[in-house]
Amino acid sequence: MTSHVAHKPSGGTHRRTVALFGGTFDPVHAGHIAVAQAAQRRFHLDTIYFIPSSRPPHKSVRELTAFVHRYTMTALACADHPGFVPSLAEAPVAGAPQHVFYTIDTVRRYHREHPEDHVYFIVGADQFLEIPTWKNYESLLDACDFIIASRPGFRLDALRLVIPPEKFGRSAAPDPNKIVLRKSAVHLLTTVASHVSSTEVRERLARKQGIHGLVPARVEEYILGQALYR
Ligand code: ATP
Repeated sequence: MTSHVAHKPSGGTHRRTVALFGGTFDPVHAGHIAVAQAAQRRFHLDTIYFIPSSRPPHKSVRELTAFVHRYTMTALACADHPGFVPSLAEAPVAGAPQHVFYTIDTVRRYHREHPEDHVYFIVGADQFLEIPTWKNYESLLDACDFIIASRPGFRLDALRLVIPPEKFGRSAAPDPNKIVLRKSAVHLLTTVASHVSSTEVRERLARKQGIHGLVPARVEEYILGQALYR
């Protein structure tokens, strides 16, 4: 599968621990990088795949920046971080420009291609609270472990409310930052609390304000060079 080439392991058959980090990345920003670094440290991730979605189901109201720009910025942001890999898993499909990507399909596809890997999905707390609206979300909760990045003002208890009661499993040693499910687990990443959002970056640029420090330096250079978000 050529569009999935970035998911190919470099060799060997050992069980890798990876995370899929989906988003619109319009643009990728310092909050995304902080979350990925914290997750990489805490869960000893071999690889984090940053997966810009060419067409996510939940963000169709606003016109997204062209995929090629979002992917390029993601690749630039990954360049300085060993283990961060930009993925083309949700790149536009030739002949099907309206193709919408759903997380469950991306996760299942990853499992099919790498059945030996332990897979986490990284998602912000705001997005996880919307999970009941995602395609096949009950199957998705079974399909991988989750790393939830806390966002400012977020309450941990809120996470439990969106999980169907029958999914809960038993945990031998209760951990306030982990929800044990029957087939998976939901982990809370509480060590990062970044206020940055892509919306803020876009709005600052539209107002001709600087974005220094809000996005990685290479991304800032690219945005300014390509005159994006004017
Ligand atoms: P926008 O402002 O356009 O809605 P965003 O900043 O939320 O975008 P996305 O590309 O939609 O960026 O985010 C990808 C994932 O990263 C989502 O799950 C989102 O919740 C999470 N995320 C984004 N920013 C942060 C942050 N500052 N802290 C924690 N999680 C974040």
